[in-house]
Amino acid sequence: MEKWPVGVFASIGAGLGVSLEVVRELGIQSVQLCCPHKEERTEANAAAFSAKMREMGVTISVVFCDFEGESYATIAKTRETIGLVPPELRESRKEEIREIADFAKLLGCDAIGIHIGFIPHDAGSADYQDLVSVMRELAEYLENQGQRFHLETGQETAEMLEGFLNAVDRKNIFINFDPANMILYGSGEPIPALKKLGKWVRSCHCKDACWSSNPRVDWGREVPFGTGDVDARRFLQTLKEIGYDGPLTIEREIPAEPERQKVEIQQGKALIESLKKEIL
Ligand code: MG
Repeated sequence: MEKWPVGVFASIGAGLGVSLEVVRELGIQSVQLCCPHKEERTEANAAAFSAKMREMGVTISVVFCDFEGESYATIAKTRETIGLVPPELRESRKEEIREIADFAKLLGCDAIGIHIGFIPHDAGSADYQDLVSVMRELAEYLENQGQRFHLETGQETAEMLEGFLNAVDRKNIFINFDPANMILYGSGEPIPALKKLGKWVRSCHCKDACWSSNPRVDWGREVPFGTGDVDARRFLQTLKEIGYDGPLTIEREIPAEPERQKVEIQQGKALIESLKKEIL
């Protein structure tokens, strides 16, 4: 398989990702897919969608979880609503992740991506231990289907995420490394984090951001890939150093401005293609 195929974060219908029409127009052949809503995750839809992917020559590298009620409006809202961390939502979302994994399997995809949320800081707390045991249950479910679980970076420092992965200790749990999220959430410099977490990185987002003046309290600002504080060249050089050879999936989270989103993804693709020539 081609090393570092350029990908894009896409969705069926609504969501943060671009539409399939844009995927086709940009000539991109690898996507991460934001999972459709519950009622659309049917066998018939999976079959129709798979057929469309085959016709377009597009591979789905990761299916990303997206839950009702999640909000990224502020860092505080994110803390309350995202992923598996809110204790009152943990059971129902655990069930839903199984359903999403089943849907991904119908699509022939062997990786599920998720923002699990802000992991509790006290590794000795009952809440942390419960989260670890839920992750183990899910890892086992995915393992039985030949699937992996990719945790998105951002909410934690590299050290905390490493501690959590070691605590969960399952061989099919990996990382989707998003360098911009480290900056947006104020969780640390992305390049050292990528080096530290390298052995777990099985997918990534090519996304960029500028640091907030009040990190960890206010969001940083997401900007087109190659124009922010990530340092795109060093990011790709470091991916090479850690031996990463999967897709380089561009993420540009401005769904309200689809035309600008498309142009900036196209520019990101051109940048990645030129950096690939230089670095690979
Ligand atoms: Mg991301």
